Parts: sequence; structure tokens; C-alpha cells
Amino acid sequence: MKAQWNIADWVSQICSGNRVALSRAITLVESQKASHQETAFQLLNALPPSKNSIRLGITGIPGVGKSTFIEAFGTILLEEGYKVAVLAIDPSSQQSGGSILGDKIRMPQLAQAPNAYIRPTPSSGILGGVAPQTQAVIQLCEAAGFDFILIETVGVGQSEVEVSQLCDIFILLMLAGAGDEIQGIKRGIMELADFILINKSDGDNLIKAEQARLIFTRSLHFFEQSAHKIPAQCLAISALNGSGIADFLAKTLDFKEKAILNGYWLANREEQSVFWFRNQLKKQWEAQLETKYKAQIQQAEADIRAGKNVLEALKHF
Ligand code: GDP
Repeated sequence: MKAQWNIADWVSQICSGNRVALSRAITLVESQKASHQETAFQLLNALPPSKNSIRLGITGIPGVGKSTFIEAFGTILLEEGYKVAVLAIDPSSQQSGGSILGDKIRMPQLAQAPNAYIRPTPSSGILGGVAPQTQAVIQLCEAAGFDFILIETVGVGQSEVEVSQLCDIFILLMLAGAGDEIQGIKRGIMELADFILINKSDGDNLIKAEQARLIFTRSLHFFEQSAHKIPAQCLAISALNGSGIADFLAKTLDFKEKAILNGYWLANREEQSVFWFRNQLKKQWEAQLETKYKAQIQQAEADIRAGKNVLEALKHF
């Protein structure tokens, strides 16, 4: 990528809200090329310390209403004067710039709003994990002055656990009346959630949604909570008619206030950085060892195909 600005100018363009500068920076940090990575490091190092943003992770099965919710919640945020960035993690794409079902079509109002920014983010690996660069993308959005960073992921594969390691508040969208097993939500994912939002609480579904809310609220008490963590909450909402969304925003702001006061907010961000460091370190080591032992690995694989015992083959490493 040809540099259009020097690093200091680029950073100041990003911080003054220039979208072209922001988009180019995101493309740069997502690039796998070694020469781009060097410039990306320089750029990231020159960013001012992260602002007062709220990073919200949003997951749930396809059809639960994630896009509708982000559009409704995002619209309220804009009305309240906040700037909103939406990073949609696209499990179908490992390449920069891919798009799930056209984000602009999924969130038409946000797509047109000057204070909103929607960007698909490539996933890593076939299971749709989060690309390691996503943390840097969040940093860039924060430098650009976005108050809320909404990180959306489809509730499949390994991405939920990783998204929960990118956000301050993790939200699980669910439906009333569909068994948990049908929704494919593992208990482990529910335990990560700070908010469980029962969506489509409207029309004929109102009573069922309220019943589901009570059941989930009760079951949340049985989940283990870390010492600092604010207890998870379950709310019934309708992304379609907007009910419960303003209440959810109030509870989000309250969560932040409490989490800052009890130290969880900063401690959580620190732990997340450590998580990503170890995550990347493991990948780096794996790649280094693969290169170092390439010949031996190939030989062992050939031996195994020829009938050698796997444990026997492992002894040589
Ligand atoms: P996603 O796949 O999780 O992003 O789900 P979408 O936001 O695309 O919503 C899937 C379908 O559910 C669409 O037809 C929406 O109009 C509908 N939907 C989303 N939220 C609600 C809601 O709160 N109430 C009702 N009745 N329908 C909803």
C-alpha cells in the first residue's frame, strides 16, 4: 500500500474522524504482508491512549435478530449523541473486505448515518475464529472517536469465546421457546454473557419471552461469577419495535460505572491483552516449530500412513 500520509499525519487524520484514513489504517493492520505489518506497528504505536469507549460483543444464532438489534440499538446511541462503530466478524471470509450478506443492506439506517461506521472484519480459520488483528482494529476505531464499538459474531464455531475476549460487555441474543440445544448455545457461552437478551418479545411472543426471561434469570444465579464481575442480567427486548432497548442502554452505562468503580473494567482489558498475547505466541511457536521440524514431520507422517503407531512416531519429537 502506497503511503499517502506520513505516520504522524495519518494518526491525526484518524483522530480527527477522517473515514478514509481510518479505513486505510484498518486495511493496513489486517494485511498479512511483512512490509505492511511494520508500518502498522508504527501507526498503532503512535495512536493516543484509548479513549473512554464501550466495547460490546454481540452473538446469537442466525435469525435471532442481531442485525435488527444493532440497527435499533445503534440508532438510539446516535440519537443520544454517541458515535458508533460496528465490526461484523465474517465467518465466510478470511480476506479483508469480505461481507456477510452485505452489512449496508442489513443495517440501512446506520449505513447512512455520518456518526456510524460499519466494517466487516475477516475471520481466521475455518471455524470462524477472530482474526488476531481485530484488537488493533478496535484501537483504531477508538482513536477515531467512536464511543461504542459493537462487535458482532454469528453464534457458531469458536468466535464467541474469542469475541468475549475483545469486549467489555458480552451480549447473547436468544429466542424464547426454542430449546437451548436448538439454539446451539453451549452453557459455557451463557456463562460468558454479561447480558442475555431475549429478543422478539413482541406480539404473540410476549408472554413466552417473559417466561424465558424468568427462567434464564433464575439459571444465571447458578453460574459461577468471578470476584469482580457484575452479575449477569437477562432482559426481554424487541429489536423490531424497540421495546427494552433504551432500558438496555441504561443498564449498559450502569454496568460500566460499576465495573470502573470495582476495578473490573481495566483489569478485564489487561487480562484480554494477555490472552491475545498468549494466543498469538502459541501460533507463532507452532509456525516456527513446523518449519524447524518440517522434514521429520513429513517422515513421521509417511511412517504413520505405512502403519507405524502414532505414539511411537511422537517419541521422536
Ligand atoms: P440475524 O441473522 O441474527 O442478524 O437476524 P436478523 O436481524 O436478520 O433478523 C432475522 C429475522 O427476524 C428478520 O426477519 C427480522 O425482521 C426478524 N426480527 C428481528 N428482531 C425481531 C423482533 O424483535 N421481533 C420480531 N417479531 N422479529 C424480529
